Amino acid sequence: MFKKVLIANRGEIALRIHRACQDMGIKTVAVHSKADADAMHVRLADEAVCIGPASATESYLNIQSILAAAEVTGAEAIHPGYGFLSENATFARIVEEHGMVFIGPKPDHITLMGDKITGKKTVEELGIPVVPGSNGAVETTEDAVKASNSMGYPVLIKATAGGGGKGMHVAHNDADVRDKYILTRNEARANFGNDEVFIEKFLGHPRHIEVQILADDYGNVVHLGERDCSVQRRHQKVWEEAPSPVITEKQRHDIGMRCANAMKKLGYRGLGTVEFLYEDGQFFFIEMNTRVQVEHPVTETVTGIDLVREQIRVAAGEALNVTQDDIKINGHAIECRINAEDSETFIPSPGKIDFNHPPGGYGVRVDSAIYTGYRIPPHYDSLIAKLIVWGHDRHECIIRTRRALSEYIISGVNTTIPLHKKISRDEKMVKGDYTIHWLEREFLKK
Ligand code: ADP
Repeated sequence: MFKKVLIANRGEIALRIHRACQDMGIKTVAVHSKADADAMHVRLADEAVCIGPASATESYLNIQSILAAAEVTGAEAIHPGYGFLSENATFARIVEEHGMVFIGPKPDHITLMGDKITGKKTVEELGIPVVPGSNGAVETTEDAVKASNSMGYPVLIKATAGGGGKGMHVAHNDADVRDKYILTRNEARANFGNDEVFIEKFLGHPRHIEVQILADDYGNVVHLGERDCSVQRRHQKVWEEAPSPVITEKQRHDIGMRCANAMKKLGYRGLGTVEFLYEDGQFFFIEMNTRVQVEHPVTETVTGIDLVREQIRVAAGEALNVTQDDIKINGHAIECRINAEDSETFIPSPGKIDFNHPPGGYGVRVDSAIYTGYRIPPHYDSLIAKLIVWGHDRHECIIRTRRALSEYIISGVNTTIPLHKKISRDEKMVKGDYTIHWLEREFLKK
């Protein structure tokens, strides 16, 4: 096992990785920007190296500085977390060329799935159903119109390199496609440096359901059930649950095994999330993420498996020590993503936290790197905490989520705790009766 791991990230996920390392007896190296000198992961890590100014391009995305920090401190492996360099195949390759281990999949698999078009083609050939759409990239405006007409409106124009809910636009008619096609290409070029786009049928009432995969280098692959991440705003997840309130044991087994078998054929290693839209009893693949997900704790909570620990173990060349039969779904888990944002306008609210009082008690976990007196810098993502709650069943879990939210105090900045309190009391949420459009089209309009 590694003796020292460098954590190329910040915030709650940096702390999450640090904790997994500590539990495994591994020393940690934190890297940080000048704006993060006081961050909790920097305080707790065994060593810390400042790698640049506040701007992420000059710090958390600065490959040279991160590699230099790893070499100077003698780290044997680099954990990229999520976001930043976590799905950058070039980074993964360079890390390995420098004789260190990238804690993630093989670089070729990152490349394959990082491009949504090749990702979709690959999994389709491996027997996974995909969202109906254009056959590969759409090169001209008129081809976009033709493709849209053949699948029927509305359609979704998507950047193949898109991520984080960005680089996609819905179109309702020919004129709309002409505008949105150009818009999406321009946005994709500016944000992702790749203006290739494709078109999908825009599904009217799907849920977002994703399957967690874990694989080692010896062909052992397991699935850890699904997460339902349908509660979204601007294509970004707000509230996640495991298991999904609408999936049967048989469906879980079928889709899970399909994903596990596909990943086995691919020779995949590490953690992976196979994302689907689920509508009228059918699954349609949208994309695969080749990293640890923000919402991984709900899976940990119901399976009892420390996913970050397993990710580090398989990267170190160890074999899985669980088989599919060992994996049981126990009870229900919910994660509320708490952002430093106004709960109604969603305007970011960086600044000093005057008082932080996280909830506790049986079945309650908080993954967060904030503390009283901490100053949230304005330069990064607004996620400041994840509240993860377990219950014997979904009903108990919702009641406990309400209780935990009522205890949670973060003052000095605005947060989305009030939004979660309302969601947890909504009748449709209680019934589990929601789709990806529910939050924006119904809940927030009330
Ligand atoms: P990203 O990589 O930006 O996260 P995804 O392809 O995973 O993009 O899609 C993010 C979200 O956008 C999905 O969870 C879903 O809510 C919505 N979405 C994506 N594809 C479709 C589609 N074909 N129809 C309807 N909604 C979609």
